[in-house]
Amino acid sequence: MPSELGFPRHPIMNAAVDDVTMAEALDLIDRFVAERTPRVIVTVNVDHLMLMRRDLAFREAYARADLITCDSTPLKWALAFLGTPIRERVPGADLFPAVAERAARVGHRLFYLGAAPGVAERAAETLRRRHPGLQVVGTYSPPVMAWEELGRDEETLRRVEEARPDILFAAFGAPKQELWLDAVRDRLRVPVGIGVGGAFDFAAGETKRAPRWMQRAGLEWSFRLAQEPGRLWRRYLCVDSRFIYHVLIEKCRGRKAAAPSPPPAER
Ligand code: UDP
Repeated sequence: MPSELGFPRHPIMNAAVDDVTMAEALDLIDRFVAERTPRVIVTVNVDHLMLMRRDLAFREAYARADLITCDSTPLKWALAFLGTPIRERVPGADLFPAVAERAARVGHRLFYLGAAPGVAERAAETLRRRHPGLQVVGTYSPPVMAWEELGRDEETLRRVEEARPDILFAAFGAPKQELWLDAVRDRLRVPVGIGVGGAFDFAAGETKRAPRWMQRAGLEWSFRLAQEPGRLWRRYLCVDSRFIYHVLIEKCRGRKAAAPSPPPAER
């Protein structure tokens, strides 16, 4: 089924993925900025799908997102296995620098919100060096608090409002960034809000991105696990590994639904 934007939207588990390429996503962002209706973009991965199984609010925030891109290679494989392939993966960590490159050319104003203190500013400095003229009109690392509280935090909201960005990147990890973007969309009315997870850390050089061959081989998770085993072992080894089981179940259900019904019994 196509999304409201006209791209094929493929359901998987409790969510869906839009079949968009990076080039299409960047053009859409330009369009959203011109239209100035607040939009939310999320980048779905296996971890998000597993979180959504037990978090209804997260599921609902995802359902209200305007664009849902595919963040991970194993998810891209799963979609192909289920008979709904997508053309390209558009991970948050690639979208973040790609938007900077486009923004420097066309003049979009960016705000980087989240990550540890100083990281967003270092990411901005790196990208300004790479793309002279880039307008990062604000960075801020709010104190750690629950997303509901952060949605009411006047200091954070005021900083974003006063900077008047066209595009707001939120890097609080999932599900906090998606829930927060959904909650503040009507208050802030920023044309584009994007949840990007660890993208500021990658751009600032705080954490290293897996080499391209590992990303293509679906092994990015193992590279991240080796860098931050204490924080990530449970996520990848205990929770996300069960994704395979859920995809197999979905495949069997899909095949049953697609199977021709038996002819009516003769009387
Ligand atoms: N983070 C934050 N506030 C929080 C929790 C996390 O700013 O309350 C930041 C964290 O410092 C990191 C980013 O969120 O920069 C994303 O973390 P993670 O690697 O978990 O993201 P994902 O794996 O979802 O991309």
